[in-house]
Amino acid sequence: MSDNLLEVRGLTKVLPAGPDQTPATVLKGISIDVARGEFVAIVGPSGSGKSTLLYCMAGLELPTEGRVSLLGQDLARLDRKAQARLRRDHIGFVFQSYNLIPSLTAWENVALPARLARRKADQSTIDAALAAVGLDTQARQKPATLSGGQQQRVAIARVLAVRPDVVFADEPTGALDTEAGTQVLNLLRDTATDGCSVMMVTHDLQAASRADRVLVLRDGAVQSELHHPSATEVFDAVAHREVRAA
Ligand code: ADP
Ligand code: MG
Repeated sequence: MSDNLLEVRGLTKVLPAGPDQTPATVLKGISIDVARGEFVAIVGPSGSGKSTLLYCMAGLELPTEGRVSLLGQDLARLDRKAQARLRRDHIGFVFQSYNLIPSLTAWENVALPARLARRKADQSTIDAALAAVGLDTQARQKPATLSGGQQQRVAIARVLAVRPDVVFADEPTGALDTEAGTQVLNLLRDTATDGCSVMMVTHDLQAASRADRVLVLRDGAVQSELHHPSATEVFDAVAHREVRAA
């Protein structure tokens, strides 16, 4: 077995045909290896399959063909219960919409995964996670009293408290202004250096250039792969085909 945290082989996703439509192939045989601690950004035009790829890698969607191995476990070989346990104990999710529970305080939201796992929330772990995202003084506030950026930081604290091996983020800065987005991005960047890998879908190419590696997706395939690129290199890689196609 390799040291890769995530191994994706020949991942294909075909969506069933709608009325008068042929089946759509959303992912076309994608293969990716992700090392522990790596920060990978996935960019590409809208509809290129970024979210579908992310959800297949996280076991939230089933691929039509191909294999996903996470932490040395083939997802297809795990029953639903084992998959749920893997997600609960080892995977963090961050979405564009913060997905906090409105009736719970920031602290209670961060403690929720432990509660759902029927473990007692460890007070110092929750406190430390909120402090790590700079929200120790907002711990007792409900989400509605927090800004969008603060709410997303609560969502990240909720992930950090689980001490996951991998974080999947789908457009985590998509609803934020530049400053709040940069804070969130810095937190994800720091998370990835701590032995935890981060896979982030974004259409912010500047943000993507902060990653160790950028995968440019087009029409369900990886069109190019850039290592520690500059923002300009990411822009060029994404714009390239659009210019030629114009
Ligand atoms: P991206 O995140 O890059 O915008 P998605 O992965 O969301 O792309 O979608 C890729 C393609 O698959 C798009 O053409 C989208 O319309 C289609 N698609 C994704 N999910 C569904 C679904 N549940 N039903 C129908 N079409 C879908
Ligand atoms: Mg998407």
